[in-house]
Amino acid sequence: MTHPAHTPASQHTRLPAADATGRARRARTEPMTVRPLRDRRYVVETDGGTYVVDVERRTCTCPDHAIRGARCKHLRRVAIEITERRIPAPHERPAVCAVCGDDAFVPLDATGPQLCARHTFESGAVVTDRETGSALAVVRSTTRRADAVETREGRVVADYETNRHYGRHEPVVEAVYLDDRPPRRRYYFPASRLRRLPGEPRLTLSDRPGRTDAESDDSDETIADENDTTTDRVGVDDTSDRTPGGTNDCEAVGFESTA
Ligand SMILES: [Zn+2]
Ligand SMILES: [Zn+2]
Repeated sequence: MTHPAHTPASQHTRLPAADATGRARRARTEPMTVRPLRDRRYVVETDGGTYVVDVERRTCTCPDHAIRGARCKHLRRVAIEITERRIPAPHERPAVCAVCGDDAFVPLDATGPQLCARHTFESGAVVTDRETGSALAVVRSTTRRADAVETREGRVVADYETNRHYGRHEPVVEAVYLDDRPPRRRYYFPASRLRRLPGEPRLTLSDRPGRTDAESDDSDETIADENDTTTDRVGVDDTSDRTPGGTNDCEAVGFESTA
């Protein structure tokens, strides 16, 4: 758990007022500093006093809330700053992005390397491989390090020659090549080897029988996913491990264009 002194607080600042009026406007325009506490609450420092906000219980220690029961400007301000990703939500903690070192807000129980919003990949995101220029679709981001994930060959992702320019500590991203014919096989990449595209094009996952998002990482680790390099991809017999009843999750990966 991170010490509160090291958790990021928002600047003591005003936010753009937009079209807001009343408390909603004051929540934005009055200078405040918001600091997460360790118990999922927030301290809000204003020029007029310091209050403690609980956004989950919708309470604040200020007189406006205590006496009038109002959704006061402090409660609103905390909600705004969470929405705008200036501070972590109650169920989140600060972390450092494994690619750029910027702040990232991740689930409290998250372990392993993490990515900031700029370097995170959504499932279905269409990306390009910086090494080959090939187009891929992301199956999912993991929180397992490139120097810890082994391919079926028994080699670690980070040890592949084509991955030498990317951080060994980075999380592995699983993706499929769009020019592969379905059923497409998954490959592993260090996160920064994949580049997001302008406009963030995205496909919808489909054809994934027997698999739900609730499946744990552990079950995925038993899946015979493929390795991460195009040279190896070419060298692999594309049908060798597609025996019925075998690595069915590999075959279950499919994408459908929504655009
Ligand atoms: Zn208040
Ligand atoms: Zn980053």
